[in-house]
Amino acid sequence: MPRFGGIASMMRLPQVESAHGLDAAFIGIPLDIGTSNRSGTRFGPRAIRSESVLLRPYNMGTGAAPFEHMQVADLGDIATNPYNLIDSVRLIEEAYHSILQHDVIPLSIGGDHTVTLPILRAIARKHGPVGLIHIDAHADINDEMFGEKIAHGTTFRRAQEEGLLDSQHVVQIGLRGSGYSAEDFNWSRRQGFRVVPVEACWHQSLQPLMAEIRQQMGSRPVYLSFDIDGIDPAYAPGTGTPEVGGLTTVQALEIIRGCAGLNLIGCDLVEVSPPYDTTGNTALLGANLLFEMLCVLPKAVR
Ligand code: MN
Ligand code: MN
Repeated sequence: MPRFGGIASMMRLPQVESAHGLDAAFIGIPLDIGTSNRSGTRFGPRAIRSESVLLRPYNMGTGAAPFEHMQVADLGDIATNPYNLIDSVRLIEEAYHSILQHDVIPLSIGGDHTVTLPILRAIARKHGPVGLIHIDAHADINDEMFGEKIAHGTTFRRAQEEGLLDSQHVVQIGLRGSGYSAEDFNWSRRQGFRVVPVEACWHQSLQPLMAEIRQQMGSRPVYLSFDIDGIDPAYAPGTGTPEVGGLTTVQALEIIRGCAGLNLIGCDLVEVSPPYDTTGNTALLGANLLFEMLCVLPKAVR
């Protein structure tokens, strides 16, 4: 079948119902009712899968051949409730709790960043508090948004309060933009998180930063959460809350490739909003970053 034909699963992988026997699985979470401004991420999984058919199985840059060492499939989408965010969060946690009964690493396709909270709840039930590498323009540590405790900008506040994170092993990379006060980022610092504002990333390779992070994380379980708006809107315009002066695609690759050797137990790529992605490039970038994540999982031997 030519790449443009057939039904578009992630990377044209088999679509399966059960994670039994899988080492890693792609899972879509079509959700956008946690967004505070521009919506559209409910269409993210479908657009990313559609662009992902361009991907080939071998990573020319790193030599990773993930499908030679791992069983990988597409588990389809989580059935969210488009009328109820709290219920959607419950449905996502239940689905992940069930999936994680198997020895599988979930690679999640958002969806807005709310989805990471129920994923982390399920992950922590299995692994206990985990280290976190969080790439984003925003810290997502608001206490409330419009009086609501659950929203895409409160995810890591809730995760920290609920004890899902190993707070001495949390790194937030790419934070920037206009905010409300210095507190937007300082709350993170008071928890013990390492905050790497984007200005500390400008004009340089992030390989040294990732070497430090690998040292810091050691062998503990680490979750990788990648908000596409961490990348500059020149490369990733298709997102709801763009901020100028962001990471480059090359830096994004350095970050993910720099995770090789970590004990990654789950990854996500969130906040791709196809209605704002007129060329499809943002979804294509998201698909590529998910492939790069697959290529650095512990079993993806080089
Ligand atoms: Mn975010
Ligand atoms: Mn963001």
